[in-house]
Amino acid sequence: AGGPQGQPSRKPGIPGVGAIIAVASGKGGVGKSTTAVNLALGLQANGLKVGILDADIYGPSMPRLLGISGRPETVSGRIMKPMENYGLKVMSIGFLVDEETPMIWRGPMVMSALTQMLREVEWGELDVLVVDMPPGTGDAQLTMAQQVPLAGAVIVSTPQDLALIDARKGLHMFRKVDVPLLGIIENMSYFIAPDTGTRYDIFGHGGARREAERLGVPFLGEIPLHMQIREMSDAGTPVTISEPDGVHAKIYRDIAAEVW
Ligand code: ADP
Repeated sequence: AGGPQGQPSRKPGIPGVGAIIAVASGKGGVGKSTTAVNLALGLQANGLKVGILDADIYGPSMPRLLGISGRPETVSGRIMKPMENYGLKVMSIGFLVDEETPMIWRGPMVMSALTQMLREVEWGELDVLVVDMPPGTGDAQLTMAQQVPLAGAVIVSTPQDLALIDARKGLHMFRKVDVPLLGIIENMSYFIAPDTGTRYDIFGHGGARREAERLGVPFLGEIPLHMQIREMSDAGTPVTISEPDGVHAKIYRDIAAEVW
């Protein structure tokens, strides 16, 4: 392991944490969180010590995706112990508020919640901390990209043009704050009918690869649209855990190896 050397960050790092990597998308619903969790587990399967920070304050999904409930323990003062499942250390605003409570925070409150989840958590020794960013490329995301000492960012997109336009905005956002772009992942890239084996490019195919080439950033891989990926996410046992020898787990491990 050991990825590209990022630019020296002006923000203080987190003691014990090697690299912080953001997983971002231009818009919601493209599979950013699903990809982030399987990527984190893929990095772990490749031998790294990994944590995941759910920074999607308005729509935290890590508790459900990882099948974790309950509240983090406080160790001393405000310092919390991360929750843990499948060997992954996890922190999410979803552990701290009710699932039904709508988040109506303003920007500064979001930032202080995020800072606490980042800096007042006993992460211990980690090679990589994956940050599941909120979708979009507005002010909140920009602030976050500026506040968090990121070693790099990964953009998740679906293949069609509209999603790619948004992904491009994400790319420019990270460039603006000097965060190195580790590359683009194409999610829902193709569909293979389980009964006939016929392949369908439901949202088109290859758009993200072309875009990556055009923008001069690495293309990290293609993830198919598959019912099992969705079902296992819903069940709290991501496909990298439930079917570690399966084809999808391998895809995520291979992508993880490209990322870091
Ligand atoms: P986002 O974080 O971008 O909003 P999610 O990760 O929550 O997106 O995914 C949106 C929905 O799509 C979820 O129901 C998820 O299970 C499903 N999904 C994501 N990626 C895939 C995939 N490759 N195949 C099948 N379903 C997927």
